[in-house]
Amino acid sequence: MVKKDLYEILGVDRNATEEEIKRAYRRLAKKYHPDLNPGDKEAEQKFKEINEAYEILSDPQKRAQYDQFGSAAFEQGGFGQGGFGQGGFGEGGFDFGGFGGFGDIFGDIFSDFFGTGRRKTETGPQKGSDIRYDLTLTFEEAAFGVEKEIEVERFEECDMCKGTGAKPGTKPETCPVCHGTGEVRTAQNTPFGRIVNIRTCHRCHGEGKVITDPCPKCVGSGRIRKRRKIKVNIPAGIDDGQMLTLRGEGEPGLRGGPRGDLYIVIHVKPHHLFTRDGYNVLLKMPISFADAALGAEIKVPTLDGTVSYKIPEGTQTGTKFRLRGKGIPHINGRGRGDQIVEVYIEVPKKLTERQKELLREFKKLEGEDTSESKSFFQRMKDAFGG
Ligand SMILES: [Zn+2]
Ligand SMILES: [Zn+2]
Repeated sequence: MVKKDLYEILGVDRNATEEEIKRAYRRLAKKYHPDLNPGDKEAEQKFKEINEAYEILSDPQKRAQYDQFGSAAFEQGGFGQGGFGQGGFGEGGFDFGGFGGFGDIFGDIFSDFFGTGRRKTETGPQKGSDIRYDLTLTFEEAAFGVEKEIEVERFEECDMCKGTGAKPGTKPETCPVCHGTGEVRTAQNTPFGRIVNIRTCHRCHGEGKVITDPCPKCVGSGRIRKRRKIKVNIPAGIDDGQMLTLRGEGEPGLRGGPRGDLYIVIHVKPHHLFTRDGYNVLLKMPISFADAALGAEIKVPTLDGTVSYKIPEGTQTGTKFRLRGKGIPHINGRGRGDQIVEVYIEVPKKLTERQKELLREFKKLEGEDTSESKSFFQRMKDAFGG
């Protein structure tokens, strides 16, 4: 088994600064993260190596030992008592037993992936990220409400290790550095007296436990990406651009924190007849010249089917009438909006000879009439001197 150089694995110079090592690690860890390379054994192996290399090179003490003694420093019986290297190289080559750093490593990756922006010093529980889902409804679905099943891809607890990150049959072990307290105390003598510093344990990152044998399915992260079906009750009256929040249906939290939320952004498809104005439904409807002139009972489409409405004699284009309670249900209460119908007179394009004949007759009669239109022509004459 050829032991690879740890600096080579991270692609950094032997003199690389801590910051450079960290940057290289993050870039590579993201590239080879198993969640982004599902089923890719090579990426998985690479990811493991990267983590192992980082585990040592990110720790100044371990790095110094590595620089001085090479990987021998981490072999069983070598420098094994100090809280690292229990696993040694084993027979597999790179098995430092050093998966204790996973908590932090994954925390970092996840906060990078989901923008939760965890500060480095923060080790407490943290709420998971929110997920946005865009859902398109028909006009009627939005008006009357509907139950929808949506599919969301998110992280779920790994079913193989039940989220512990440890290989089935093994358990996370008590951290050998802090002995399970999650804290490391260092005493310092200063001119002002003895000062005790308490800081979060660098090995287990405050969790008190380390994973020595990571779960093969989730590679120690305790979570895997899954598509999940979620039923959503869309309330009647919802409108385009509104948002529903499903609490606790987002990404899982970190270190025992609660799940994030799922935001469903509603889009409503335009209707071929109706438009919406708040809770009112607007309809532009053609009526025939004869119906407009004589008055008629017309059939009006509504969200509940057609209803009859009596238009009076002499109805003009642009006349609006209101059908009470035929609009959109109020989203958080009782009652419904109205339907506003605006009529316009449609001039017939194809007429039979008989119809034309009657219209000519009608026109002749109209000429003898003393109506408003006459005064219009009078006004035109005045204006143009005709
Ligand atoms: Zn697992
Ligand atoms: Zn610890």
